[in-house]
Amino acid sequence: MAEKVIIIGSGPAGLTAAIYTARANLEPLCIEGEEPGGQLMITSDVENYPGFAEGITGPALMEIQRKQAERFGTKFITANVTKVDFSSRPFKVWVGDKEYQSHSIIISTGATAKYLGLESEKKLMGRGVSACATCDGAFFKNVEVAVVGGGDTAMEEATFLTRFATKVHILHRREEFRASKIMADRALQHPKIQVHWNTEVVEVLGDKAVNQLKLNNTKDGSKSTLDVEGLFIAIGHKPNTSIFEGQLDMNETGYLVTQPDSTYTSVEGVFAAGDVQDHVYRQAVTAAGTGCMAAIDAERWLEAKEIG
Ligand code: NDP
Repeated sequence: MAEKVIIIGSGPAGLTAAIYTARANLEPLCIEGEEPGGQLMITSDVENYPGFAEGITGPALMEIQRKQAERFGTKFITANVTKVDFSSRPFKVWVGDKEYQSHSIIISTGATAKYLGLESEKKLMGRGVSACATCDGAFFKNVEVAVVGGGDTAMEEATFLTRFATKVHILHRREEFRASKIMADRALQHPKIQVHWNTEVVEVLGDKAVNQLKLNNTKDGSKSTLDVEGLFIAIGHKPNTSIFEGQLDMNETGYLVTQPDSTYTSVEGVFAAGDVQDHVYRQAVTAAGTGCMAAIDAERWLEAKEIG
């Protein structure tokens, strides 16, 4: 028998969609992924999620949201969706060989921040290494930090970090920014920002927290070190949309396209929420907000189709 709604993904977007659809008696099935919880699972302290005056850790926040979704009857499967077919109704979703059917789908598979791929970067993740200045910038008051990247995100993050840090070093592997001129100029002219051209990070040093970077000059191979307490990686994000290729409209960087003021994708009955369709805000609270929107859109759509 087909489900009324299957939710794919279990970050704040997916779990909020689960809470809302469960409370609407749609008995959602949430296929939460092999590593449930999304990007917040690698975030130490969350101070900007409303409702937690003292702050909360990312994993604790996701545990609470999951419990809340479970309380109203959400069913969970801890596995990755491997294939989908949205070409006919009910829609089909596979986990390996097992096929599930559903009248509506909410996609909340999120995006993954790109990292440099260094062992030491991984080790110090959440202990000085971050991929989100909006989330973690406030932890770096009156210290020096570095931002890696040369695109708009790097410029934006570096400029934002000047509110807290005494100095922000932008480390870019080439000698020209990819960022738009206006954002690059803003960073270049900022008195607290120093740009290091032709520079790559080869190691992140620190025992319990970041305290130094080992750098390599990409032009002449010379080595140097830089003392910083924070390292912000701003080299782009990748939306988790490969299984939807050819089935749903995406923009040129792979984000699902939703219709304005809604969570409707290019296939009627398939909705998208959170970072998988948002490359601009990328916050837990905005993901939760669009998760709520997707649940309401799905509920109204099912009702109009007289399902559920
Ligand atoms: P981009 O892909 O535009 O830039 C990524 C940057 O990271 C590039 O400078 C790239 O270097 C560098 N980089 C990539 N991989 C590595 C690596 N392994 N090591 C070191 N450096 C690396 O990503 P963004 O996130 O900056 O932007 C994504 C999109 O979002 C863009 O279209 C951007 O315009 C948009 N955006 C707009 C904003 C706004 O208008 N307010 C704010 C933020 C983003 P290289 O240049 O050498 O390739």
